[in-house]
Amino acid sequence: MKIVFFGPPGSGKGTQAKLLAKELNIIHLSTGDILRDKLSDDDSLSIKLKDIMSSGNLVSDEILNQIIANKLISKECSDGFILDGYPRTISQSDFLLSFFKRNSLILDVIFNFKIDFKLVEERIILRSKQEQRSDDNIDVIKTRLDKYIEETYPVSQFFSENFSQNFFNIDASQEVSKIQKELINIIKKGQK
Ligand code: AMP
Repeated sequence: MKIVFFGPPGSGKGTQAKLLAKELNIIHLSTGDILRDKLSDDDSLSIKLKDIMSSGNLVSDEILNQIIANKLISKECSDGFILDGYPRTISQSDFLLSFFKRNSLILDVIFNFKIDFKLVEERIILRSKQEQRSDDNIDVIKTRLDKYIEETYPVSQFFSENFSQNFFNIDASQEVSKIQKELINIIKKGQK
């Protein structure tokens, strides 16, 4: 099973992607988590990443595409995967779709988390207090949401038009357990 999650920062897609990966026993590929892991390396890349991520901007497509290509060809992805936070730009989407084509892979399900941006701001402020993520303070929320609107929203639109049979909008303002049940039901039912 190959699944992609779209949604603005703070929409809860990371939490849901993690729960669903466990349920389906497939790997959860969060590019945000992978990049945060790299921050602890003591090299020039980690310094560059820290600057970009703490400002709320996007890391370059070249870096992300390389990370994802390495992951997708690895054995841990052979039974399927959940992509969370990728693709985030049209260039990443082109890269992913050509990777799928080259390797005769099929995208099974796309979940698009929808939520009011005011609620997102409140959630991110709360998370910044709980997890102390450097990119969760109020100053960078706007940049992160702007990046989502400018770069990622068009990607989700592209998928909704080109994969309409496998594309599901999710009301992300609902409770965690309710959303989880909804996702599992959709997976069980398959296509629309
Ligand atoms: P996330 O945890 O998904 O919100 O990601 C945290 C940060 O990592 C983002 O604000 C970006 O700076 C960076 N990042 C994660 N995924 C991507 C991606 N696919 N493309 C570019 N930057 C990314």
